Amino acid sequence: MQHPIIAKREITQYILKRFGIRMNKKLGQNFLIDEGIIAGIVNTAKITADDVVLEIGPGIGTLTQGVLETGAQVYAVEIDKKLLPVLEHTLEGYDNLEIINADILKTDIKELIGNRSFKVVANLPYYITTPIIMALLEEDLPITQLVTMVQKEVAERMAAVPGSKIYGALSVAVQYYSKPEISFIVPPNSFMPSPEVDSAVIVCDIYKDKPVKPVDKKAFFQVVKAAFGQRRKTLTNSLGLLGLPKDEVRELLAQAQIDGRRRGETLSLQEFKILADILVLKK
Ligand code: SAM
Repeated sequence: MQHPIIAKREITQYILKRFGIRMNKKLGQNFLIDEGIIAGIVNTAKITADDVVLEIGPGIGTLTQGVLETGAQVYAVEIDKKLLPVLEHTLEGYDNLEIINADILKTDIKELIGNRSFKVVANLPYYITTPIIMALLEEDLPITQLVTMVQKEVAERMAAVPGSKIYGALSVAVQYYSKPEISFIVPPNSFMPSPEVDSAVIVCDIYKDKPVKPVDKKAFFQVVKAAFGQRRKTLTNSLGLLGLPKDEVRELLAQAQIDGRRRGETLSLQEFKILADILVLKK
């Protein structure tokens, strides 16, 4: 069956009109209308017919169509019930698709996909980008790669290196689980309606073997949270958030051979691990 390409302004307008759909800003509905961007995402994710793909927020099926054309098995989770009849129409005839009407944050992905490893491909709703990315990373799912469209500023934070102004808890969390790399920047006019800011496609290759292995993951993230909790403070001050008296914080930093006058945004993942391991071993 020959499908007309959805990723065009006129086709998107026609579909919305035909189904009487008004885009829901609250759900982050900015639909792609540029086939070049769809091809760019599909190529970046190197999707083949052997892949299993989870798509978050298929909308009217624009990106879904590009992924389906590769022959991959696609699970598309869309929260907006009103879009279901649209998807059934626009993606009619593809037998490699399962559409699920649910909130991705409340979906049991293991139950849906089973033990097969899979890729995540999504033009994410910007109002919950970080919770979605963190939930996917933390759940210990057999994901090999996340290829997502996010706000450019968020992509930059995810990929930021220690010492840069934008390096923070999100950078550490993403880089603990994966190797992020910004693939390309997407201008506002590639979407309908146009968002106010640039977007970016970022690839996160999930580590099978994490390069940084703290003794206790929870302690690692507690140290990260404390270090970034009060950004402009030195580590001697900010690590007080761990509930330790100042002299113990000084001792901890001395043992880790980390200058207490430094700030959280200068610490590498390895340095966070050293601090967390000393804390755990002390207990
Ligand atoms: N994939 C389409 C595209 O690229 O044109 C639409 C992307 S649009 C930026 C985000 C989509 O995510 C919308 O269709 C929206 O309804 C859906 N969405 C928002 N919150 C969601 C959630 N919690 N779970 C699943 N889908 C969600």
